[in-house]
Amino acid sequence: MSNNLKDEILELLWSLREKGSKSYMDIIEGISDSDNDTSDIMRKMEKAGLIRIIGDDVELTEKGEARSRDLTRRHRLAERLFYDVLEVGMEESEFAACEIEHFLSPHVTDSVCSFLGHPPTCPHGKPIPRGKCCSRYKADIKPLVMQLKELEVGSEARIVFIVPSDDTRLERLASMGIIPGSIIRLRQKRPSYVLEIDETSLALDSLIAEEIYVKEQV
Ligand SMILES: [Zn+2]
Ligand SMILES: [Zn+2]
Repeated sequence: MSNNLKDEILELLWSLREKGSKSYMDIIEGISDSDNDTSDIMRKMEKAGLIRIIGDDVELTEKGEARSRDLTRRHRLAERLFYDVLEVGMEESEFAACEIEHFLSPHVTDSVCSFLGHPPTCPHGKPIPRGKCCSRYKADIKPLVMQLKELEVGSEARIVFIVPSDDTRLERLASMGIIPGSIIRLRQKRPSYVLEIDETSLALDSLIAEEIYVKEQV
C-alpha cells in the first residue's frame, strides 16, 4: 500500500477531528490522488488496524492515533522550521513539510522541537502535538529560538514567530511593530517587560512575553 497516501489519510483524519468531523466523504474529498483509489487504501488501513470504518464515519484506532499524532507533530514542526526559521514561503514550507514528515526519526523530531523552543502551534495556528522533549526540564539542545521570557536583559534578538492566545492581540502587537523579523532589545523583565524597537520603548505584560519567540542576535 502506498505509504505516503496512507500517512496523508492519517493526517487528514487528525485535522478533520480537530474540526469535529470524522466523515468518510470528507476524507475522500480531502485526498486528491488520481493514481490511487482512496477507499481501497482505507480498507487496507482498516485491515492493518489503523482505522475503523463505521457506517459513514472513520475513526482512528489506538495504533492509528499514535501514528497520526506523530505525523501531525512532524509536519507542523517542519512548517515552523521552514517558514519561520529558514523563511521559505508558506507554499514551499507546506510542500517541504509533507516530504520531511515521512522520515524524521522521533529523536530528530524532538531535536527540531527543542531547537525551535517547543512551539505550541504551526504557522497556521494549529496545535502541535506535544512530545517528550516539551515537558523535560533539562535542555540538552541549545535552542536557536526561545521565548522572549528566556532572553537575558540587554540582549538583542530578532522576532521569529508569535503564537498569540487570540488574534486581536496579534494585530495590537503588529501596530507596535512587534512582528516576525523585527529586531528588539530587551530592557527589563520586571515588573513588566520593556522592549526597544527602533529607539521606541514598549511595555508588555509577561503573558505576552511567553507568546513571542525570538532568536538572539550575535
Ligand atoms: Zn500548519
Ligand atoms: Zn518539545
